[in-house]
Amino acid sequence: MADTPAPARVRFAPSPTGFLHLGGLRTALFDWLFAHHTGGQFILRIEDTDQKRYNPESLQDLMRGLRWLGLEWDEGPDIGGPYAPYIQSERKEAYGKYADWLVENGHAYRCYTTAEELEELRARNLPYDRRHRTLTPEQRAAFEAEGRPSVVRFAAPLTGTTTVHDVIRGDITVENTSVVDPVLLKSDGLPTYHLAVVVDDHLMEITHILRGEEWIPSAPLHKMLFDAFGWPAPEFVHLPVILDPSGKGKMSKRRTVVDGKEFSPFVSDYVTGGYLPDAMFNFLANMGWSFDGDQEIFTRAEAIARFDVKDISPKATALPFSKLDWLNGMYIRQMAPSELHQALVPYLAPALGMSEGDLAHDRRLAELTPLIQERIKLLTDAAPMVDWAFLPAEAITYPDPAQLIGKKLSAAESLDVLAAGAEIVADIEPFEVAALEAAFRSRAEAMAIKVGSFLAPVRVAITGRPVSPPLFESMHVLGREESLARIDNARQALHDYAATLA
Ligand code: GLU
Repeated sequence: MADTPAPARVRFAPSPTGFLHLGGLRTALFDWLFAHHTGGQFILRIEDTDQKRYNPESLQDLMRGLRWLGLEWDEGPDIGGPYAPYIQSERKEAYGKYADWLVENGHAYRCYTTAEELEELRARNLPYDRRHRTLTPEQRAAFEAEGRPSVVRFAAPLTGTTTVHDVIRGDITVENTSVVDPVLLKSDGLPTYHLAVVVDDHLMEITHILRGEEWIPSAPLHKMLFDAFGWPAPEFVHLPVILDPSGKGKMSKRRTVVDGKEFSPFVSDYVTGGYLPDAMFNFLANMGWSFDGDQEIFTRAEAIARFDVKDISPKATALPFSKLDWLNGMYIRQMAPSELHQALVPYLAPALGMSEGDLAHDRRLAELTPLIQERIKLLTDAAPMVDWAFLPAEAITYPDPAQLIGKKLSAAESLDVLAAGAEIVADIEPFEVAALEAAFRSRAEAMAIKVGSFLAPVRVAITGRPVSPPLFESMHVLGREESLARIDNARQALHDYAATLA
């Protein structure tokens, strides 16, 4: 029988200081996959103890990005849960209580060093010198009587080493003296990240900490804190950083241009950029973990079944963005046309000046969607391929009437083609794709014109463009009257143009 893993409790613990990045989304995705793989819980916890860097728009952006990818959390700030609240600024009392406990038990102490004194040390490039670690009760009382503000500092062990075991990196060992009594509680009573993260991971019964490798230097301190409290530490999994597309450095936190192409780290840019959540899911799951060398496309259920934190690679890799576009095209092709129609609605509505509600039920879009499904990689590719069908005939203006002339045809011959086309469109019964096609083909033959040259002027007449979805289907989308009106307008435009050539 295969091992049944114990249900894991994993948390994504972003600080609401900016907008959700692909790196953060990948961390959340691994959290989610592991929670689902083990039948455990995925928890969203907001680490907003740094009030100076707080960005009020950040939380909404984070939640929107996670939900877009389909990473619903089992417990979190908006939905609550058995360990609520899930926002650290609402858990202030707990941290104060635990800081006091550490002080009372000799693992922490109040430090009254002033900002000026600390500045002096910094100016001389010196770390904090533990000066208040061994104050006598009288000295402490004197500082208190003075009304000096104080912080709580961790009394890190002064001998020995601490080892953190990382599931994918092995043991990370440091000399305990390298941890110089960091601040746990600030003078305003708010915790620092280090205290809050350890207290919350314990109280919320987190079993695995998945986070970026930039947190490796903090891990020994966290382990020391778990030890000081006498709590078992969760498993640590420090995920590899994501590199810039150039592969040269860590992915930038802003939009950057690499080889003339803009890359964005912001998840919201991929949402507006026409990417599908399934494609992004597939893409990010393979960043640091690998589904399988020879299966590029996999479902969420398949990924859940295989995912295990121990298979994550610690090696940093660059995001292969061209793969993302390819995947997106593949996922678009896999969709049912009705599903793609609905996915296109939010992208097309503003481009076509229509309401989303109307477009969701629009017959023209329903007919056009399967025609463009093979040709688009991004949902944003659709607008320029279908907009012609939503414009009134007079808005198709043929700014370059020479496009109405078929290959190897003269202007006069092209006018004859358009006249023949108008005749067919006016008379054909039924007005259906197969009937139109048969009639156009036999008329081309009768006029001894190659089919391609024959259809070109008609295509431009109907759509205003030399490249379009299949022509007879396009005419069918417009209907007889509208198709006829366009061919007539095109005949006029070409007629006027031909006069200038004579
Ligand atoms: N709040 C930290 C961050 O924003 C999370 C670190 C952790 O997961 O322990 O990156």
